[in-house]
Amino acid sequence: MRDTVEIVGVNIDNITFEEAEKRCKEFLQQDKLKMIFTPNSELLVDAVKDPNFTDVLNNGDLVIPDGIGVVIASRFYGVPLREKVAGCELMNSLLEIAYTQEKSMYFLGGKEGVADEAVQKLNQKYPGINIVGYHHGYFNEDEEKEIIQEIIDKKPDIIFVAMGAPKQEKWIYNHRDILDAKIAMGVGGSLDILAGRSKRAPEFYQKAGLEWLYRLLKEPKRFFRMLKLPKFILLAFYDAKTK
Ligand code: UDP
Repeated sequence: MRDTVEIVGVNIDNITFEEAEKRCKEFLQQDKLKMIFTPNSELLVDAVKDPNFTDVLNNGDLVIPDGIGVVIASRFYGVPLREKVAGCELMNSLLEIAYTQEKSMYFLGGKEGVADEAVQKLNQKYPGINIVGYHHGYFNEDEEKEIIQEIIDKKPDIIFVAMGAPKQEKWIYNHRDILDAKIAMGVGGSLDILAGRSKRAPEFYQKAGLEWLYRLLKEPKRFFRMLKLPKFILLAFYDAKTK
């Protein structure tokens, strides 16, 4: 039985980072595709407006609280989430696990050249890592068919999908029955980070729960997107009070 907290209609796993890692290891031992989603405040605001997205998230096999806003919101419901589980950290951990267990991977997403660079960097860090393929995240319907066929042929154990939310989650959900993998995970901008094109916040910001502030300072054009954080807190507060 999963221990979850329902926040603005989305069931989030109440787990620690270590437990999330353990679940990933278990998923790799099983046959049926498991979907990992990493909602943060911005994404949950989108889910409130898009019931289809909420439904997709609620079909996830592991849905981690990827941000301090989600942890704060859980307190309104009287069931505090134990900790923030950062999606990019879980992805890093899954990469390590895959490397040690010799599992194969496929990367889908990012601008042209990004997955390529990320794969090169990963090959340097993990010599012999089993990356069976990758493709950028801007494709038309015909190209999509070829990509899906490639994934089916190459049978990766893990598919990392980095096309931003809600596109990546919906893509994983819509193709869950034909993708013969063990894990598909939505990883947002993580490929850009792996490729060295964008940076994660220094540890100080991460520990203080201020990663959003660092991103705002680095990319001021995110300001309007970030207004979703206070909006999310209000939405969750209201939702919890009316339950
Ligand atoms: N992206 C993509 N295909 C698209 C739209 C976006 O591959 O049709 C990629 C984009 O290049 C970026 C990632 O998806 O690498 C989304 O990054 P963003 O910073 O929006 O994600 P976040 O981490 O904030 O969820």
